[in-house]
Amino acid sequence: GSHLCEALLAGGWRVSILDDLSTGSEQNLKDVLESPECVLHIGQAEDEGLVESIVRDGVTTVFHLASVVGVQKVMADTVQTIAKMQHSTEAVLKVCSRFGVRFLLTSSSEVYGDSERERFREDDPAIIGPSHHRRWCYAAGKLMDEFNAYAYYYSNQLPVTVVRLFNTIGPRQVGRYGMVVPRFVRQALSGEPITVYGDGLQSRSFTSVRDVVRCLIALAECSDAIGKTFNVGGSCEVRICDLAEKVCGLTGCDVGVRHLSYEEVYGEKFDDMRRRVPDTSRLRQTIGYAPDTPLEMILQEIIDWMKPQVAGSGYESGESV
Ligand code: UDP
Repeated sequence: GSHLCEALLAGGWRVSILDDLSTGSEQNLKDVLESPECVLHIGQAEDEGLVESIVRDGVTTVFHLASVVGVQKVMADTVQTIAKMQHSTEAVLKVCSRFGVRFLLTSSSEVYGDSERERFREDDPAIIGPSHHRRWCYAAGKLMDEFNAYAYYYSNQLPVTVVRLFNTIGPRQVGRYGMVVPRFVRQALSGEPITVYGDGLQSRSFTSVRDVVRCLIALAECSDAIGKTFNVGGSCEVRICDLAEKVCGLTGCDVGVRHLSYEEVYGEKFDDMRRRVPDTSRLRQTIGYAPDTPLEMILQEIIDWMKPQVAGSGYESGESV
């Protein structure tokens, strides 16, 4: 969110932020809030009255990013995850529809579920696991958000675009909610072994948050993107065990790897996705661009950002296993 605000302000937009700061930090907004063109409202996206008071004040476009972040949080508080996703999207959609504003929903590559396709395409079916495996509630919740957005598109002509984000990483992301890259970097810089879950042969394609916000803004400004879904993700697929090695190499901290089973991490069986790689041809065709920052460059930026914090006293990672 803070990266999106920076990019919007740099592009001459006026920005109203709504955040309940449940997982974000006001510190991340310190720089953007120095701009007279940027206002922060602290509150919940579920609060329809509050959303309306912001949107009615001349808002033209809503980037709906509010959601629950991180597998760890989803597993630890499933009831809140489902309620928050459902109620916030519903409230924001109702208000946007009332004022006819451009609406961009950030969904997730999680919605592809257990697909075995080489590269996920927007029109692929979603293959979601059973409901008694609570990890799937996030995918189901995001899918429901998408259905809901399209319902407003068809019934109320709301100008909607759905964006499916693939593992987005960058400075300011914390490892507290489970995200692998900030965890690995913090572990290496603190001299702790890197915790690889499962066999480490599962892979992801990591994407720079800077590339992502560039795509979000381009899509919001593009009338051809209305009524469509887009993958936004990088092309550099990496196995998690190789990611651990890269982090050791780039930090210069040869801390070694500690393998943990999913049962040890989550206390129950966990269906992790083996691969998750986007097909970004639709994005390229529509905005002429797709994320392309090399993984090493993104990792180096994260290391440079985290190094002084870990070196300084009292850095609270807030991370569990
Ligand atoms: N992962 C890991 N060690 C960690 C945190 C995560 O091996 O300390 C693995 C996780 O099991 C998954 C991958 O890294 O296979 C990406 O995890 P993340 O939570 O960042 O994203 P997602 O699971 O949503 O792709």
